[in-house]
Amino acid sequence: MILTTESPTNTGSTMADTILTAQELKQHYRVKQGFFKPEATVKAVDGVSFTLKKGQTLAIVGESGCGKSTLGRMLTMIETPTAGAVDFEGHDLLNLDKQKQAELRQKIQIIFQNPYGSLNPRKKIGTILEEPLVINTNMSQAERKQKALSIMAKVGLKEEHYNRYPHMFSGGQRQRIAIARGLMLDPDIIVADEPVSALDVSVQAQVLNLMMDLQDELGLSYVFISHDLSVVEHIADDVMVMYLGKVVEKGKKADIFSNPQHPYTQALLSSTPQLNADKRRTRIKLEGELPSPLNPPNGCAFHGRCIHANDRCHTETPTLQSQKNQLIACHAVEEGRL
Ligand code: SF4
Repeated sequence: MILTTESPTNTGSTMADTILTAQELKQHYRVKQGFFKPEATVKAVDGVSFTLKKGQTLAIVGESGCGKSTLGRMLTMIETPTAGAVDFEGHDLLNLDKQKQAELRQKIQIIFQNPYGSLNPRKKIGTILEEPLVINTNMSQAERKQKALSIMAKVGLKEEHYNRYPHMFSGGQRQRIAIARGLMLDPDIIVADEPVSALDVSVQAQVLNLMMDLQDELGLSYVFISHDLSVVEHIADDVMVMYLGKVVEKGKKADIFSNPQHPYTQALLSSTPQLNADKRRTRIKLEGELPSPLNPPNGCAFHGRCIHANDRCHTETPTLQSQKNQLIACHAVEEGRL
């Protein structure tokens, strides 16, 4: 499969307490399916808009393949969107000269799911942490080491870890190293792509607590990408649920968790483990798989798995509408059937 991207077009906007705004972001890949078949378009992300508030966490939730990781890569400028705009503190990130883009890129860092794969096994922790400083600053070796040790202390690593290799650490410690590397250039925003998914549940809580402490201490804003709503419940201020490249529900965490309105959000939440018996929901089993983005269904992309689908759902794509405190894309909600 060969992937190519189309060229972007851009617009932008800002708000007082907003640090990042995404407007109608799209990532459409042209996919070659074989010698004798025509190219197809995969709409990995298809018109996603949101705002991220300073010092807060926006959680992006959905199953594997819903476009959330692609979105994260666009926000960190690893991928250029096909269309849309990203505004970071008044800067249109997709229409900057190379020097300014490199400068602002430092302010938005990404942490990946797999700290095993993202840390070079042949390099010592000190070298790994100092690499971004070597590339992006004029700091002396002594200054780089001092900075690395101070960030290591912030994430709960000890001075003696500086000269050790990644394989000498546990999974939780490796994720601390990955977080430390993300902090080396003093970013304002961290995009965390499934940062605790590879960890044991007990270690997940430690890493989440660390991330929340760092947020308080450093005033960081997080875009927290996860398939797991129970993880998101701890850390999010706002929640955005995605399905096949589109946003289906968006709102404050408290509203989404207490009153999920989109059938997909309801199903995701019903399968989230709850220790508190009062909070447990009747399990809504999601039948079937996420449809192929190569051949998405007409109408609402969720209709094949939705117990509330009617004829309209098979032909008309629902758009995000304001319902109570949330934005929801669902005909049944709009029609008052839910
Ligand atoms: Fe279900 Fe229809 Fe709502 Fe889609 S639009 S979630 S198919 S009720």
